[in-house]
Formats: sequence, structure tokens, C-alpha cells
Amino acid sequence: MKQPLSRYYSILDGKSKAYYLLSKEIQVDFSPSQPDEELWKLHTDQIAEFHLHIDNEKFKSKSMKRLDKTARSLLDLKLELAKRMLSRCEICEWRCCVNRNEGFKGRCGVLDPRIASEFLHYGEEPPLIPSYTIFFSGCNFKCVFCQNYDISTHPDEGIYLSPQRLAAKIAERFGRIASSTAISATKVWSPMFAVNVNWVGGDPTPNLYYVLEVLRHTVVNIPQIWNSNMFLTERSMELLDGIIDVYLTDFKYGNNSCARRLSGVQNYFEIVSRNHLLAAKQAEVIVRHLVLPNHIECCTKPVLKWIAENLSSALVNVMDQYRPMHRAYEHRDINRLLTPSEFEEAYGFARELNLHLV
Ligand code: SF4
Repeated sequence: MKQPLSRYYSILDGKSKAYYLLSKEIQVDFSPSQPDEELWKLHTDQIAEFHLHIDNEKFKSKSMKRLDKTARSLLDLKLELAKRMLSRCEICEWRCCVNRNEGFKGRCGVLDPRIASEFLHYGEEPPLIPSYTIFFSGCNFKCVFCQNYDISTHPDEGIYLSPQRLAAKIAERFGRIASSTAISATKVWSPMFAVNVNWVGGDPTPNLYYVLEVLRHTVVNIPQIWNSNMFLTERSMELLDGIIDVYLTDFKYGNNSCARRLSGVQNYFEIVSRNHLLAAKQAEVIVRHLVLPNHIECCTKPVLKWIAENLSSALVNVMDQYRPMHRAYEHRDINRLLTPSEFEEAYGFARELNLHLV
């Protein structure tokens, strides 16, 4: 059985390429005039081939078309599909169907991507440090206890960085000056330089098209991390396939009624568990579970049990840093800190399940 994050470490060692670089190298013949369904079918076929080669470690096989300079790539196909999705937005499971290309906002309120902050983060899980963390403004959830409510509830605040500018910043944070070719040499670890790009918010989901655009201009061999509530549609998950190396997920609720009351979302468990299964097929997964006060039986135990039964390869971070912020005071059950005994019970349960704990 593979060790958790073995491919991630292989990218850090320069022995493997980040998925997004591979998607840029695969030639896909398509025309922007082709109808949606044809392009989705083509995308599905290409992704299947992509994984076949990755799994068999034969990615350099001549049977996979390599890109010449004038040709379109698998990443270009993803961009075309993502742009079309924006014109009737079904990027997340709210499926607002608004035309964001024409300036209409859906539930998340996100139009142009706004970056609230971007910096080297030293507070993530140890394998991810230092992480070049890009915080988008806006979110598709309305968590009453949001720990980042200052940015998640203000989708228009923050700065716009052109995709080219952000790609250049990624190269700087990686410790290289961008060049026209991908860099895959072994990189010496330094606390001054990022070992990954960490797309977060709010939530990165409403900005999926922008993330792909940034990566079109990025050339350094750096793993891509999708740090999200995982409320994407299956089609959005397909677009991230072959792009994201590590899903850093947030799996909070063990049932739909807690999710509806505290985050304002429907069908949470079905959607988020489905997307975890898809994520584990595509890439490596670290699941974060924030333990909420008074939610051990209804949320913590069902989530951890589900992970043990369905995601045996994932790393799991059982988190104790809940604070009653934002509008938590409106809900008596969560309007306090977690007690040490609650966390011990949650952590002990995770240990009994033999999860790979961070
Ligand atoms: S990203 Fe989600 S919430 Fe935002 S407009 Fe699209 S479907 Fe609606």
C-alpha cells in the first residue's frame, strides 16, 4: 500500500511532475466551435488516458500525444469548458445558472476573482510548510461560525491580480525566476520558499476558471493544493482532475441537518462524500475535520467513520481550534470553545479507527 502523499513528496524531490504541467503537455485536438457535449466527451476520454499512463508509470510513452507549440493542450480544453460553465454557472452545487461572464452574480457573489491575501503560510499541516497560500474573497457557504468571515462574506474586496502576475509570483515564491520551460530539478528545501500552491478562501471553487488561467502561465514544478469545502459539481471535479495534486478538504458535518442549520447548504453529506471519493481517485487527500462543540455524536463520529470505511489512504487532521466567531452566538450549541474532554473523545475515536492522523 502506498504511503500517504508519496506522489506529493516525489514532486518535491523533482522525480515527478505536478499534474498541471502534464496537462499542459498533452495535445488535444479540439475547436472552440464544437458543442459542449462533444468537448466534455473528449475531456473524459483524455482524462481516462491521462490516468492510465500515470497509474502505469508510463507517462513518457509515445502513445500519448505531446504538445507542439501551435497545438492546444488538455489544460486549454479545461479552460474552454470552465469558461462555458461561467456563462451558466454550475461550478458548485448551488447551480445558480447565472451568466457570470455577463456580470451576473450568484449566491457566492463572486465575479472577478479578488485576492484577500497571499503569503507563505507556516501554520498548515507539517508536510505542506511553507505553503504559498492564496486566499480568495467570497464563499459559496454561509457558515455561521466562519473563522475567516472577514474575507468570505466580502467577495468584492481584495485585489485583482492578472493571471500572468500571479503566475510570476508563484515562480518567485518557489524560488525561481519563471522561464519558458518547466523546471523539474531537485529543489533544496528552504523556509524562504514555498513547497506548494494552496488555493483557498473563503473557498476557491467560484474561481476555478481563474485558477486554470493562472496555471496556463505557470511553469514551475510545484504541487497544487485545493483547500476547499468540496461543494463542487461533478463537472468541476472533472476539470480539477489532472490539475490538483493534493486535495486539502474540509469535512465538518456528519448529517445534512447540521449542515443546513450552520452552513446554509442542502444535501451536504451526499455531495461532499461523493466529491471525496472522486478526489481520492484523482489525487492524494488530506481531510480536515474541525471538531465542533456538542457535535461529537452527530458530526465527528459519522465523518471519521465514513473516512475509515471509504478513504483509507487519506491523511486526516482532527482539529481542535474551533472558536465561536462571526454569528456563532446565535446558536447555543456552538457558542463556546471545545472542551479538552470533547477533543480527547474525538481524537481517541479517530485513533480507534486506525486513521492516518496528521
Ligand atoms: S460558484 Fe456556485 S454559488 Fe457561485 S454563482 Fe456559481 S453555482 Fe452559484
